[in-house]
Amino acid sequence: MERCIVCGMDVKISKPVESTIYKNKTYYFCTTLCMVLFLQVPEKYIDLTKTKNIKTK
Ligand SMILES: [Zn+2]
Repeated sequence: MERCIVCGMDVKISKPVESTIYKNKTYYFCTTLCMVLFLQVPEKYIDLTKTKNIKTK
């Protein structure tokens, strides 16, 4: 089970989901919208997961 790096929702990787590879790491997303948000400012979301858990707005 992977987690959507943008909104923090669980993503089932057993079925087709949105994903992208950034700096040799694969990131999964619950929706295309989340993937678009990530691609706009990937460092923002990566920094968040490193420091503390993402809280949904
Ligand atoms: Zn999401």
